[in-house]
Amino acid sequence: MVCALPYDERLHPDTRAFLHNQPKRLLIAGGWVAAAAGRTFDKDDPATGITFASVCEGDAEDVNRAVAAARAVFDNAHHPWRRMTPHDRERLMHRLADLIEANREMLAQLITLENGKPLTASEGEVAASARMFRYYAGWPTKIEGDVKPVSIPDRLNYTLREPVGVVGAIIPWNFPLSMIAWKLAPALAAGNCVILKPAEQTPLTAVRLCELVQAAGFPDGVVQLINGFGETAGAALTAHPGVDKIAFTGSTEVGKIIMRAAAGNLKRLSLELGGKSPHIIFDDADLSKAVIGAAYGIFSNAGQSCNAGSRLFVQRRVYDEVMARLAERAAAIKVGPGMTPGIEMGPLVSREQFDRVQSYVAAGLEQGARLRAGGARPPNAPEGGYFLAPTLFEDVHDDMILMREEIFGPVLAATPFDSIEEVAARANHTPYGLAAGVWTRDVSRAHKLAALLRAGTVWVNCYSQFDPASPFGGYKQSGFGREMGHEALELYTNVKSVWVGL
Ligand code: NAP
Ligand code: MG
Repeated sequence: MVCALPYDERLHPDTRAFLHNQPKRLLIAGGWVAAAAGRTFDKDDPATGITFASVCEGDAEDVNRAVAAARAVFDNAHHPWRRMTPHDRERLMHRLADLIEANREMLAQLITLENGKPLTASEGEVAASARMFRYYAGWPTKIEGDVKPVSIPDRLNYTLREPVGVVGAIIPWNFPLSMIAWKLAPALAAGNCVILKPAEQTPLTAVRLCELVQAAGFPDGVVQLINGFGETAGAALTAHPGVDKIAFTGSTEVGKIIMRAAAGNLKRLSLELGGKSPHIIFDDADLSKAVIGAAYGIFSNAGQSCNAGSRLFVQRRVYDEVMARLAERAAAIKVGPGMTPGIEMGPLVSREQFDRVQSYVAAGLEQGARLRAGGARPPNAPEGGYFLAPTLFEDVHDDMILMREEIFGPVLAATPFDSIEEVAARANHTPYGLAAGVWTRDVSRAHKLAALLRAGTVWVNCYSQFDPASPFGGYKQSGFGREMGHEALELYTNVKSVWVGL
């Protein structure tokens, strides 16, 4: 049963009105509809465990309808979306960015209610998402083909960059709006149709965003929304012969399932998967900045970031000092409901995720890692919520579970190191390769290590910096394809080579 939340009076009137109108429906062919099978699922608040929303649960039949609607748009050369000028596409995308900004309070509250993160972090996510649409609004007028200098007489050869077609975007719960923006913005800039399948934990932000997509004036069927479960709705989208491309962010395990399922019609794939990113502090680093950076790298978003700096390597001479400062910082972080002002870290997203992370803490203790901070519910955390204190383990060996597996929680595993060659080898000793952090004042060491680390992003004397202009994606089992920057347009376009006999 859907219940009122204890912070009801703090909600923006628009948020309250949005939540009043339930269950939240699917968007198919421009209409908000119930699921074909008539099912719904419940959504709880991670800070209290209270069920506060009900959402229509789409499955294969709803996916079939959405794909048919998207194909009807994309395969019709006369459809307004297919005939739209780049300039008009730009205008629509700016209008969507305007609407996101105008709805910033409500969107931020929905993110916090369904994901649990502090409201200030949600506000940052909304602003970043609007910027993503603005950045890609600049691209439709700049996506170019070129003329090739072929050596055959009396032949003209040029290339066109065309949209790939119908894109299925499968979204995780850790950044409910950003993860949509990263995929939707470049896909729309290139002229595709998109079917969104958000994570079951975060269906609401996606509903509101799609309402804004409609209000901006995108034609029906260009953006559609199928809330539901991965094993049903997600799997149907991935296997559907009418879908040309899948853009996925989530676990490496599901990434592999998707790769197999997409083989049927050889879909284009981009996969942004898990990580176990190394954060490396040398003894010449500005330690106060490095400690803040290391704490931010693992404790922001309660560690539920693909790029979380979850393995900390500290040069031996400063190891004890860094451990002491980090333990102090971890203990000082204010943990509580994201809706409470002044909170720095919210709960984990779900009971399932809480249990998963706790089982890693237990495994770490069992394998003999030394717990230096956290490891349990914070003493004054509200009852019913999925709260875990910022957790620091020290003297963790490279082969322990804490160093090997993606935990996706506020759990940092630290170890000392001696030399740059040693730390590069140990940092690379993982199946993942998403990101890495390096803290040093030695310029040559910084660049040498940036080259040695097998990761899609390296941050030097900073961490977790993102910008729409800068590409992001994985090496090794952290996936392939680059999101953001002009690189992402490669994911959403095909190159056509045209020959003309003169
Ligand atoms: P997940 O299962 O990989 O979920 C990501 C998305 O994929 C969700 O929308 C999910 O739907 C969907 N999905 C699941 N199975 C699918 C299938 N067979 N076919 C198509 N789509 C499918 O991740 P999770 O279960 O939420 O979290 C588990 C772990 O994944 C985390 O602890 C973390 O280690 C990792 N993770 C990584 C990232 C990242 O950014 N790299 C993000 C999230 C999670 P439903 O969840 O609605 O069923
Ligand atoms: Mg799942």
